[in-house]
Amino acid sequence: MTDRPTSNLTETSLPTQWHTLSQAEIERALQTGMAGLQEDESRRRLARFGPNRLTPPKRRGPLRRLLAQFHNILLYVMLAAAIITAFLGHWIDTGVLFAAVVINAIIGFIQEGKAESALDAIRAMLSPHATVIRGGTRREIDAAGLVPGDLVVLASGDRVPADLRLVAVKELRVEEAALTGESMPVEKNTAPVPADAPLGDRYGMAYSGTLVVYGQASGIVVTTGAATELGKINQMLSGIQSLATPLLRQVDRFGRMLALAILGVSAATFVLGSWWRGHAPAEMFMMVVALAASAIPEGLPAIMTVTLALGVQRMARHHAIIRRLPAVEALGSVTVICSDKTGTLTRNEMTAQRMVCAGHVFDIGGVGYAPVGDCSIGGHAIDPGHYPALAMAIRAGVLCNDARLREEDGLWRVEGDPTEGALLVLGGKLGGTQHLDDKLWPRLDSIPFESQHRFMATYHRDDRGDPWIFVKGAPERILDMCGKQWNHDDDDPLDVDYWRRMATDTAAQGLRLLAVACKRSAPAGERLTFADMESGYTLLALVGIIDPPREEAMRAVRECHRAGIRVKMITGDHPETARAIGAQLSIGVGKPVITGAEVAIMDDAALRRVAMEVDIFARASPEHKLRLVQALQADGQVVAMTGDGVNDAPALKRADVGVAMGMKGTEAAKEAADMVLADDNFATIATAVREGRAVYDNLKKFILFMLPTNGGEALVVIAAILFELALPLTAAQVLWINMVTSSTLGLALAFEPAEHDVMNRRPRPPGEALLSGFFVWRVLMVSFLMMTGALGLFLWELDSGTSIESARTMAVNAVVMAEMFYLLNSRFILAPVISRGGLTGNRYILLAIAACLPLQIAYTHAPIMQAIFDSTDLSLLEWGKVLAAGLLVFCVAELEKFLIRRTGLASRLSHSRLSHM
Ligand code: ATP
Repeated sequence: MTDRPTSNLTETSLPTQWHTLSQAEIERALQTGMAGLQEDESRRRLARFGPNRLTPPKRRGPLRRLLAQFHNILLYVMLAAAIITAFLGHWIDTGVLFAAVVINAIIGFIQEGKAESALDAIRAMLSPHATVIRGGTRREIDAAGLVPGDLVVLASGDRVPADLRLVAVKELRVEEAALTGESMPVEKNTAPVPADAPLGDRYGMAYSGTLVVYGQASGIVVTTGAATELGKINQMLSGIQSLATPLLRQVDRFGRMLALAILGVSAATFVLGSWWRGHAPAEMFMMVVALAASAIPEGLPAIMTVTLALGVQRMARHHAIIRRLPAVEALGSVTVICSDKTGTLTRNEMTAQRMVCAGHVFDIGGVGYAPVGDCSIGGHAIDPGHYPALAMAIRAGVLCNDARLREEDGLWRVEGDPTEGALLVLGGKLGGTQHLDDKLWPRLDSIPFESQHRFMATYHRDDRGDPWIFVKGAPERILDMCGKQWNHDDDDPLDVDYWRRMATDTAAQGLRLLAVACKRSAPAGERLTFADMESGYTLLALVGIIDPPREEAMRAVRECHRAGIRVKMITGDHPETARAIGAQLSIGVGKPVITGAEVAIMDDAALRRVAMEVDIFARASPEHKLRLVQALQADGQVVAMTGDGVNDAPALKRADVGVAMGMKGTEAAKEAADMVLADDNFATIATAVREGRAVYDNLKKFILFMLPTNGGEALVVIAAILFELALPLTAAQVLWINMVTSSTLGLALAFEPAEHDVMNRRPRPPGEALLSGFFVWRVLMVSFLMMTGALGLFLWELDSGTSIESARTMAVNAVVMAEMFYLLNSRFILAPVISRGGLTGNRYILLAIAACLPLQIAYTHAPIMQAIFDSTDLSLLEWGKVLAAGLLVFCVAELEKFLIRRTGLASRLSHSRLSHM
């Protein structure tokens, strides 16, 4: 069985009709048992059967990816131009054009690779996990490590990690749509079925990729990876989507339209220039190629993608894992965050502080999970042994419990639900360790806790063989089941008012409430069912559990408020507990608290009215979350919603940004979500919003950099043609500028950190056009400035008798210099950059400039460059003039920002538009 040292399993020696076999046959065939495999055996099997993974669809190889870069309008034009120039015998131009094409393709290739690897790293973080029993102990492993023979435990919300033959089920319902297309969940059992049963009727099997929507089970892995039914149809479950978001598509479309328009204008210029103005067609042709090359923003989509991917990577470093890229954009415009309380806003480190029994209120001392602490009434220490109700309540809390308390190196840890852990610690403190051992009162059956019904029940036999049912859960639920209360024994009539009062009083102190009760009888049938939970129980006690708010969540809530984002708490907890915790977090202060039951009786219109008013929704269930998202969205809000359970999936899907918990969340919730919080922490959502806003800012900054720099170069050429001037830049020179600056300089903006006031602005209106009137103005203004600097210098130099080569060299350098300076301007859209932080805050910008400078020096002074580009040496004075042209652009651009800020134009041109940029 499990401890057989070596097994001789091979894929071919195994049966295939697993669904027809009994548990004993399966165990024999797979040489396993109810204690699972031993670690060393599972390692051997992993080596033999390979990892439990489906092979991802084949990626394009590097060569094909490189070739794909050439599939681009601009590169087609340049290639065509290169061929034509070759025919015309302009060999230097041909060479430069070819070089430009190759460099552009290589830069695109590298950028795409960077974006892909950023996403790959994130995909790896989302790898599914599985709970297995190995060597008799339960542990969580990467699902890729599962092997045939492993014993896997399933719970609601899990994606089945491999094909399993079920050996124990507890109301297991599985949705098999991934495999059979049938979306109605199937009720599972452990019985074998005939060999010819179709997949959907094999009730004793749970297949890889299907979803547990209810109940619990355990099953033995029969096949893994490609051998599973899912593997056979070779279907990968949806992972992270490709790199396309509405914004990127919008920019891509814009870029393509702009490129076509530029080609049209270039063709018109060619026709006009050669026929109307009588220029030589060959010369005109080179001019328009230069014009197109300088004006088409070829790097735009690639750098936008990189910016987005870098943002996603930064978010992942802050524990926010983006699953769907459009969420990055949506994050920037979130107006409402609806968050769970327990574990997200609070620490999920539960400690029982108060026990209310009939007639007595006990205070419990001690901190953390160490089971040491005393018990007192009104400040006087007491012996718990003298209070039978207390002793019974503690026993109930320890037995009706699935958590484990463990000591490791002097440190106590809870495995499982922290609420239940608190009861174990309580048991340790007040009852000694005998309560931690349920062997004396063995458990015969149980109903696990599910947040919809808010209780858990277990059925035991005591040391004399008498049956007991214990139940614990939300006080309202438990009170409904009880007719009596335990004082010295189970015969006092229930004083409902007393318990309600004590419940409200305890909850108002911010304590989480549990009621515990018992019944001295066996279930009606063989197993414990909901029918056994209706009445006849004796209430033992109320337990008040403290779960303090996270410090960082308090700060994050304040940050969200400053950022114009409403934070709403949606919790399964008691309204008073929620109100008290909310007050500590500054959520819903002075506002009413509404319960799920109240939400349920409101119609959509009424809910819409209160959804924005109220900030705390207590005793809420997943269906209320869905209705709330809908109500808020109908009100025009952009909603982020957190969730962890399988039933939260619809609300997460519906929300603009569905946020799943990475640690306590189910696979179902994670798959429905746009973003997964690796640390389950509310503060991470606020950080993601901040990063989302920063990414959007960076995209805008990049566009505001790229368009005018391209525009400036184009204007220089157009002005020269229009005014019949000597051409200030030759075609080869324009291409050089493009190669040096267009992709390298702008890329640095993708690394721009969030501006310090990014969370002091109001959310960006969703669907806001990227190219606002202000954008057009800025692009035109800077294009014009660049042209003025370069063309002005060129004409001035010609006028004062400088050679055309030298004037052109200065014009080329002036354009590049202006771009370098304007790159600094572009760090902030409206804020000034003239400060130490402003000029040096982004080292990538400094690096990009530092990389460009030697290239320009080489362009100007290296003989080979002079031979290719007709450039000439410049004197120091001439370099000074070049610098002045750059400074002109820098200063005027800063002046424009200053004037906009000063005149308040920013807020007049719609606050949300300008102040955001
Ligand atoms: P949130 O939605 O903010 O995470 P929550 O985790 O407190 O809230 P639930 O876990 O649904 O919400 O719990 C709701 C109520 O159910 C709790 O207030 C408590 O009374 C009861 N409860 C919680 N955990 C258990 C448990 N393990 N066994 C029995 N009852 C429980």
